[in-house]
Amino acid sequence: MSDQRVVVVTGASRGIGRAIAVELSAPDTRVIVNYNSSPGAAEETVSLIEKRGAAASAMRFDVADPGEVKAAFDQIVDAHGRIDVLVNNAGIARDNLLAIMKPAEWDDVMSTNLKGAFLCSQAVVRPMMRRRFGRIINVTSVVALTGNPGQCNYSAAKAGIIGLTKSLAREIVSRKITVNAVAPGYIETDMTAAIPQKAREVLLSQIPAGRAGAPEEVAAAVSFLASDAAAYITGQVIHVNGGMYM
Ligand code: NAP
Repeated sequence: MSDQRVVVVTGASRGIGRAIAVELSAPDTRVIVNYNSSPGAAEETVSLIEKRGAAASAMRFDVADPGEVKAAFDQIVDAHGRIDVLVNNAGIARDNLLAIMKPAEWDDVMSTNLKGAFLCSQAVVRPMMRRRFGRIINVTSVVALTGNPGQCNYSAAKAGIIGLTKSLAREIVSRKITVNAVAPGYIETDMTAAIPQKAREVLLSQIPAGRAGAPEEVAAAVSFLASDAAAYITGQVIHVNGGMYM
């Protein structure tokens, strides 16, 4: 078995996932940079990680596809013998008012944001249980708690992530595996770049800190949950939102 700690971050080609993958880099670590449709961006993440002295490899799989997830995690375990940290970060938005939401908009968001976290967590549970160590960190959202018009699908999936986090935490805490969630507020990434100026101003007015967050500020919370210092924290949701929801 490799001496290197093995970290898998889903959706690490861009945005919050990239910041998490870079933050979790250390000289004794191998980071698996998962992506779905942006191979060039994933390679940029790999370069950023290598600059920090860690090993990294980009790996394409669709987190919503059971066959692709199983094959990918089997390959990781075969190659490296272990998975220490899984960050379920991959996510999409397909916003629409419920009255006109298409079933496909509901299904796509549920598949990537919720089923994806289920499939990837299931794939790491056995290897982590064998080693009596693991950290699973799920990226949820402030809207899981507050709701948001136009995001019934997204907020339902993100609320589901919190239920998944708490139930799985109870199932595997005795094996020294912790399962927690991080709930970002409004963070500047490609996902939020499409928000129209007016809606952006409304959003900012709801944030006591008076500004949007940076991906690195979410990554800092994930990094703490992945650390040895967080060994006694499980089933929790850490909010990173500038006070938007308390
Ligand atoms: P982003 O910039 O749009 O990046 C999304 C990432 O997810 C990309 O790396 C994308 O990879 C990957 N991805 C999408 N579908 C995938 C799939 N089926 N399989 C594998 N990877 C997939 O989004 P972000 O803002 O960084 O968001 C990251 C996470 O934070 C998401 O779960 C999001 O819901 C959550 N979040 C974001 C905010 C915010 O304000 N930005 C707030 C709360 C929560 P490819 O480019 O390769 O397809």
